[in-house]
Amino acid sequence: MEKRLSQKTIFLTGAARGIGATCARIFVSQGAKVFLVDRDQVALEALAAELNQAGEVAIPRVLDITNRADVEQAVRSMHEVWGRVDVLINNAGITRDSLTAKMTEEAWDQVIAVNLKGPMICTQAVFPIMKEQQSGVILSASSVSALGNIGQANYAASKSGLIGLTKTWALEFARFGIRVNAVAPGFTATEMVTTIPEEIQAKLVAQIPLRRFATPEEIAKAYTFLASDDASYITGQVLYVDGG
Ligand code: NAD
Repeated sequence: MEKRLSQKTIFLTGAARGIGATCARIFVSQGAKVFLVDRDQVALEALAAELNQAGEVAIPRVLDITNRADVEQAVRSMHEVWGRVDVLINNAGITRDSLTAKMTEEAWDQVIAVNLKGPMICTQAVFPIMKEQQSGVILSASSVSALGNIGQANYAASKSGLIGLTKTWALEFARFGIRVNAVAPGFTATEMVTTIPEEIQAKLVAQIPLRRFATPEEIAKAYTFLASDDASYITGQVLYVDGG
């Protein structure tokens, strides 16, 4: 059977660890080439070296997605090397949790900058190339927290903001053959979640119908499906992968 992402070139942000690193491995196993972007140089280069053992399939680029010039330069490099930018995965994201009454302006600004402005910058950078190709896929990491979560006003605003962006981009870009969707994971066992105190983790699990956190693989498989041609008539959607 043909691999699901055969010949696809994918610009993946937040690739160094967690869901992003798992996506990179699964995308490559499905035949894709991955341009890996992250702030964490050590982890990023280790992942690229691992993936490139079986052939030149990964290019790492250390950058902060809030830096427009660096993102534009990275997208240009990817296009020069591989000649195409088939898929953008806006996966990089951060949390700076606190109750609204105590939330600092800095915590607000940081989360909005990385989780909302970063995806806007990356999307603006790939759009002219996808328009020229008359094809492309843009996927973004929303979250169940988009629906509201105590202590996450900044994060929830950013993740519901991404749903607004997704639906707007889907409408604006459809006539160029570009599909745009979001994946909204529930709690997933990455450092973002395993660093939460254990008693709070137990309370969170108790509220999930399937009674466990997602694995990063389960989230990466949703991205794989939406990035693939199997999802060729799906756009403007939010796929909740949240255990119920
Ligand atoms: P993670 O913290 O394990 O990894 C995030 C990666 O993004 C890190 O490698 C980090 O260095 C990178 N990053 C952060 N800011 C960056 C920036 N400005 N520029 C470039 N890279 C940057 O997170 P994760 O759990 O793998 O989550 C991935 C995405 O999924 C995030 O957007 C997150 O909000 C979302 N999400 C996660 C969960 C969960 O439970 N883990 C649930 C819902 C949504």
